[in-house]
Amino acid sequence: MLTLESYALGAWQRGAGDERILRHAATGEPVAVLGRAELDFAAMLEHGRARGGPALRALTFHQRALMLKALAGYLMDRKETYYALSGATGATRTDAWIDVEGGIGTLFAYAGKGRRELPNDTVYVDGPTEPLSKDGSFVGQHVCTPLRGVAVHINAYNFPCWGILEKLAPTLLAGMPAIIKPASQTAWLTERMFRDIVEAGILPDGSIQLICGGVGDLFDHLDEQDVVTFTGSASTGRHLRQHPRIAARSIRFNMEADSLNAAILGPDAAPGSAEFDLFIREVAREMTVKCGQKCTAIRRAIVPSAHVEAVTQALRERLARVRIGDPDDDTTRMGPLVAVDARDDVLAQVSRLRAGAELVIGDAAPFQADGLAQGAFVRPMVLLADDTTIGAPVHEVEAFGPVASILGYADLDEAVELARRGAGSLVGSVFTGDDDVARALVLGCASHHGRLLVVNREAAPASTGHGSPLPGLVHGGPGRAGGGEELGGIRAVMHYMQRSALQGSPSTLSRVCNVWLPGARRHEDSVHPFRKSFDELALGDCLVTGARTVTLDDVEHFAEFTGDTFYAHMDEAAAAANPFFEGRVAHGYFVVSIAAGLFVDPAPGPVLANYGLEHLRFLQPVYPGDSLRVTLTCKQKTAREGGDHGEVRWDTTVVNQDGAVVAQYDVLTLVARQA
Ligand code: NAP
Repeated sequence: MLTLESYALGAWQRGAGDERILRHAATGEPVAVLGRAELDFAAMLEHGRARGGPALRALTFHQRALMLKALAGYLMDRKETYYALSGATGATRTDAWIDVEGGIGTLFAYAGKGRRELPNDTVYVDGPTEPLSKDGSFVGQHVCTPLRGVAVHINAYNFPCWGILEKLAPTLLAGMPAIIKPASQTAWLTERMFRDIVEAGILPDGSIQLICGGVGDLFDHLDEQDVVTFTGSASTGRHLRQHPRIAARSIRFNMEADSLNAAILGPDAAPGSAEFDLFIREVAREMTVKCGQKCTAIRRAIVPSAHVEAVTQALRERLARVRIGDPDDDTTRMGPLVAVDARDDVLAQVSRLRAGAELVIGDAAPFQADGLAQGAFVRPMVLLADDTTIGAPVHEVEAFGPVASILGYADLDEAVELARRGAGSLVGSVFTGDDDVARALVLGCASHHGRLLVVNREAAPASTGHGSPLPGLVHGGPGRAGGGEELGGIRAVMHYMQRSALQGSPSTLSRVCNVWLPGARRHEDSVHPFRKSFDELALGDCLVTGARTVTLDDVEHFAEFTGDTFYAHMDEAAAAANPFFEGRVAHGYFVVSIAAGLFVDPAPGPVLANYGLEHLRFLQPVYPGDSLRVTLTCKQKTAREGGDHGEVRWDTTVVNQDGAVVAQYDVLTLVARQA
């Protein structure tokens, strides 16, 4: 039997006294013993703040992202260890895949996003510069910098691996250390993975700590720079959110709680249609994956009243085929609940649901599968709600197991209203082959949901499913779901950073942000910027080109050459009749092309490739006879870690003979580190 330990102040610490035996979900055999460690929580927070924080903040976003990638690879190599321990939590191999590889995949996803979407720097420049003065000498710029505290992550029992990794990835990427508190019930699996994370030696000292057991007086020592994220039941979440320290210090508190997620069958999706079958498959799958212990599982199946009977029958047939049993047996489709206590809780909640509903599939009783008398098994249970009014049990009670209720609706408005009576959900789904129905249901329900999945026969083959949170999409929901938000790509990184509005001169703010901002000083010297290597280039290095006059021949040549003979370039009368032009105009793409002809230095040199343009705007028409010049300014340099080249972004402004800007954009190039 394993004895679980906490990892505090850089060392493993074993609990003493007050032991709790954690049991195998299917066999009831003891798996691990959890002692209440006497941890110095104030010192743990201080350790994170004093050691982990500075070490993480010294790294750039890209260096942190590479750290996540290395860690993900290290854990992936050891995934079988986690699978081997997952059966004892009740998880089948498929269930464990979501937890183990889903969690490691989230680390990989953030490692990729961190390098693609964040700068190789320690400050994140958020949005465009705001002009604050007429002459451009005073501007505003938002930036995000890491919080100086510790992120305390409190997790639920159902995803012992994914739960820690989906929170850790954005936290570490932001540059913040974390203290992780897994749910006791499945802490052995989290502790095992955590040991590997420590042994990998990839994360800086002090950047992660683990609490197996209670959190003692930890909350009393939290500070305004700390963050608490909580995943679990609404009742525990509410209790923790009301901690006086959280209120007094305005400590960020993110809550992911239970929710009564709905799946709506569109009125067009009659029995026999592909969407009807997809709906049945998804409801049955959501009920049985992880034995229904998913915060995102479908709890309310909202279906046209005319199809209630057909839905009930189809679910009955589908659920009857689900083999319930030993989670380590490959033929098992649904394992047990996590523990006998959890089973008893599910059965108690089902009896509460029965106050307003009839149990139409399954029995509300323990079930012995595969001869495992001590296992926490139940059969899937479906109720048919008689009472669907506001406050009815079907909109209030979460049975955290393989339990769902069917609710009939008369029209789309009622379907939306029923979904909203869940008072805020993590996710909802809509099954319809009619895109107008999809729009009506999605716009009606979106205010009450963090994520909405729309399924039809076209989307179904590649659909990731109702219940799967994804690294790039927001996870969290309003109201009952906790009002929190996690994941959503780089959005989650910002939850661990402070956004500050900076005001000052463009040159000063350019230095602060490490990005050349419009209006900041430029430097022009005798060396063409394309002759400078990545390392030699400085922000603000610029080139002001000579002029080129655009002729009608140029416009006609470009039109014939490219095939773009749009009337505004070819027909004087038609162009003049256009409200934006006085006559024939040059193609915007011609302007961009001749701009390149003006600023490019042709000989081989450090500039290796042009890989795109961003933010291109044509701001004034260009007429034959206009004379154009370009100012090219080195705006941002992004070094590739360990690479022999970096990315250089050039602010590009094309002006006419009157100094009016006709085109504005960023040119993106790859430039060799050394000449
Ligand atoms: P829970 O009983 O609320 O426990 C959640 C976490 O809070 C556990 O780590 C628990 O630790 C800890 N905790 C309990 N009391 C605490 C206290 N006084 N101070 C500090 N920490 C405390 O929930 P659960 O039973 O583990 O999880 C099931 C529930 O979580 C379901 O309702 C489900 O819907 C919800 N859930 C939501 C999401 C989501 O993303 N929204 C995801 C998964 C689950 P101990 O285990 O040591 O008590």
